[in-house]
Amino acid sequence: MAQNGTTENGVADGIPALPFPQPVKVQEVRHTKIFIGNEWHTSSRGRTFPTFNPATCVKICDVEEADKEDVDKAVEAAKAAGQRGSLWRRMDASSRGRLLHTLADLMERDRLLLAVGSLPTLETLDTGKPFLQAFFIDLEGSIKTLRYYAGWADKIHGKSLPVDESFVCLTKHEPIGVCGAIIPWNFPLLMFMWKIAPALSCGNTVVIKPAEQTPLTALHVGSLINEGITSLGIPHTNMSGLPSQAGFPPGVVNIVPGFGLTAGAAIASHMDINKVAFTGSTEVGQLIKEAAAKSNLKRVTLELGGKNPCIVFADCDLQLAVEETQKGAFYNQGQCCTAASRVFVEKSIYEEFVRRSIENAKRIVTGDPLDPQTSHGPQIDRKQFDKIMDLIESGKKEGARLEYGGAAVGEKSLFIEPTIFSEVKDHMRIAKEEIFGPVQCIFSFESQQEVIERANSSKYGLVSAVFTTSMDRAMSVSAALETGTVWINCYNALHAQTPFGGYKMSGNGRELGKYALAEYSEVKAVTIKLSKTL
Ligand code: ADP
Repeated sequence: MAQNGTTENGVADGIPALPFPQPVKVQEVRHTKIFIGNEWHTSSRGRTFPTFNPATCVKICDVEEADKEDVDKAVEAAKAAGQRGSLWRRMDASSRGRLLHTLADLMERDRLLLAVGSLPTLETLDTGKPFLQAFFIDLEGSIKTLRYYAGWADKIHGKSLPVDESFVCLTKHEPIGVCGAIIPWNFPLLMFMWKIAPALSCGNTVVIKPAEQTPLTALHVGSLINEGITSLGIPHTNMSGLPSQAGFPPGVVNIVPGFGLTAGAAIASHMDINKVAFTGSTEVGQLIKEAAAKSNLKRVTLELGGKNPCIVFADCDLQLAVEETQKGAFYNQGQCCTAASRVFVEKSIYEEFVRRSIENAKRIVTGDPLDPQTSHGPQIDRKQFDKIMDLIESGKKEGARLEYGGAAVGEKSLFIEPTIFSEVKDHMRIAKEEIFGPVQCIFSFESQQEVIERANSSKYGLVSAVFTTSMDRAMSVSAALETGTVWINCYNALHAQTPFGGYKMSGNGRELGKYALAEYSEVKAVTIKLSKTL
């Protein structure tokens, strides 16, 4: 994934110059059913739910609603697909990698070419995120994640261990089995890939629930998983003569659109799901860990909230710091667990930093997310909108200085102006609570020691950033920060190769990179006693 945010033209960074790709009109949404065993199913309880375009508040379509019975069916299919002797288990590991590459190829194809299948357009319609950001950042990141884990599939292996010579001792890395995944609405496609790519690379099978607000791109990927790959010129059989090349075997990936309290809870507490990976709020993360503990002690990885500190020292490249911290605050309408929501600026440059931040914010283009010039779209739904507006009001009441924005755009829309508060104090609600909206809070500090303590005084510990031209300072401050990621002179610089996850209440475990492989494998030790040694 590229770094993200907006440039002077109001276009996301990492996005090439004109001519821009254009969104294509989605005539009809084709895939709205539950995807189990490579087939489309209607809801067991006969229910559907609507999904809306947040930019217009108009319904896009109805989607079949999965509940406990549908999760049970999906788990059954996933269990059968992954059992010993199954096609998926017998497949050469490199063939698994090839299937992941094929899925990435099909996503490249559907990035723009097919009107109905244009993934970034669907993502923009369902989430309200600006089209070019969906095209260049979400799609790019999703495809890169698939390709990264495609490469790992045949390189995941154990070791032989140096024990007393009358034994041979070795380790094998085996799949965990059925992996559940529950994902949020802010990066629907990207989070889908962060979950399924490492799980499949390690040979597991998956039951995944997209968020109820944004099921459409996940279901489109279901259709790609189902698609034969002969059209891409890949042979039908592998060297062992196995007919493994006709796409993913049924049941390897199952997609259950539905609500958290029903389908999500059924995944978290299922006795035949051996691992669950969750991205979302800290409160729901706690419920999932509890359900896992009370059911079958399934393994749990959690990627939760953040209240992420950025520390801007007086010796920094000031314009760079202004732009990067603001991208961090406003990217994806602030709907990021990585949002740069606490910006601590050294006193001597504070006023200039605030002045330039306001100037920078004026260049943001708010509008129709399908317009390639737009860099700022709507919030996802009314609930989030109301929560953000309430926090903005609290900031005003508690005495922070509203420097820019602070209001809704239009009468009944879900758009909120990019908002900047200065003179924010640590005790205020906007300084402590995760806002998940386009609100930048700027604090001032006087000493390094003081700012480290303040940065760490949060229950969260997801990411942080340091802006300085002193490498010495960058290294010592990054060592002191209690977060899973520290960015130096940059923000939101995420890569498929680099682990991502939080300290403290921001989560457990790591996604991405080689580190995620350990979260999706069981290690088996096999010890052989030799009858004779020489
Ligand atoms: P947000 O508040 O941002 O919507 P949530 O943490 O509520 O974030 O939702 C993230 C994901 O967790 C969604 O897919 C949602 O359906 C799911 N979810 C919500 N509540 C539960 C629950 N009790 N058990 C399992 N999954 C849940």
